[in-house]
Amino acid sequence: MSLLLGCIADDFTGATDLANTLTRQGMATVVLLGVPRAEAAVPDADAIVVALKSRSNPVAEAVEMSLASLAWLQRTGARQIFFKYCSTFDSTDAGNIGPVAEALLEALGAEFTVACPAFPTNHRTVYRGYLFVGDVPLSESSMREHPLTPMTDSNLVRVLQRQSKGKIGLIAFETVEQGSGAIRSAIGRLRAEGVRVAIVDAITDAHLLSIGAACHDSMLITGGSGIALGLPENFRRAGLLEAREADTLPAVNGHAAVLAGSCSAATRRQVGRMKQRCPWLQLDPRSLHDGDQPVKKALEWAASRLGADPVLIYSTAEPAVIEQAQVELGRERAGQLVEAAMGKIAQGLVRMGVHRLVVAGGETSGAVVTALGIEGLRVGAEIDPGVPWTASIGEAALALALKSGNFGADDFFLKAFEKLETADERR
Ligand code: ADP
Repeated sequence: MSLLLGCIADDFTGATDLANTLTRQGMATVVLLGVPRAEAAVPDADAIVVALKSRSNPVAEAVEMSLASLAWLQRTGARQIFFKYCSTFDSTDAGNIGPVAEALLEALGAEFTVACPAFPTNHRTVYRGYLFVGDVPLSESSMREHPLTPMTDSNLVRVLQRQSKGKIGLIAFETVEQGSGAIRSAIGRLRAEGVRVAIVDAITDAHLLSIGAACHDSMLITGGSGIALGLPENFRRAGLLEAREADTLPAVNGHAAVLAGSCSAATRRQVGRMKQRCPWLQLDPRSLHDGDQPVKKALEWAASRLGADPVLIYSTAEPAVIEQAQVELGRERAGQLVEAAMGKIAQGLVRMGVHRLVVAGGETSGAVVTALGIEGLRVGAEIDPGVPWTASIGEAALALALKSGNFGADDFFLKAFEKLETADERR
């Protein structure tokens, strides 16, 4: 089998979200963590998602990692490239969505790409270039208070233009509603006007399918996991994608834990709910700048509590508390301290026999999975939209669910472990 779709995701939860969509649409998909080494074995898959932790890095670093991933994917024969970012368009005026998209276009020798973060199942829709989260514009959602990428402008044409050198355009709702032919004509018009990237409106999955179909011959597609919905069908129609059996993940026994470094509204609710059901410990970034003592203490705390029920360790906090920590430590340092601590705690927990791990937060997941030295993930059952269980590739598989901050129902953590147990019982 040869690789059809090569994907580059700017965070780890985004990567498993995208792999989940592609898997459910019939593409055998593997996630590789970090820029693949030149000599890395190419997994037998229809799609490979390279998971980067590049969303909040300096622009030059994000571009370099993305281009190195692209070069590897091209060497493996990928026919089309997908750049995946968050459905809430997480970025700053410096980047990294615009600069990475433009660098990929240039490296591919392509002139134009679409940008569509819509994910209607998770209530992210784009209308006239404005991104809505549920009933409110992005800038009125909890994303305005994100610790690293606060989103205060809902107009994505403006947001992307500020990050980009080339001209940004819009393919609006009326066109998308008419289907893939109309979208292709609009792409032709915009290209003639010198537009490099166009935000594309989408409110329903039907819109996403039309956009996917319209992009069947695009060298580069960019967006959330939503627009990947329509891509497998393109390969199927071209006779390139064979039907095959769904992947079953190995049974993973061991203790269970939740690590939450996300401060997003959904995670705050999920942590609140989980605290009523299991032992919990809160980390305060202000206590973390002074050596490994807090990590040691957290692991001692966990050692005496690991048993049949999961344990919960979180740094999740309300915006006012985060702000206080950021004033004292600086925004980046506060984030880095928590991420480093979560990574070390994960290593300690795995040594103590935790083999089922739910991680909340994109950056947090990146830190945890990197600290655990995991190279790749296979995709299993979906817990809630956009969040599947995965199994690490290699010996002694770990079961991992990497949850994007704002994804999942309020009972997500419990539901995740129940889902794993049901899968085990069925074996
Ligand atoms: P999400 O998926 O919700 O965006 P992320 O893990 O990507 O979550 O981002 C959350 C960021 O906030 C991480 O860098 C994390 O280390 C940082 N963080 C977590 N808890 C706190 C806190 N209490 N104070 C300041 N920053 C925090």
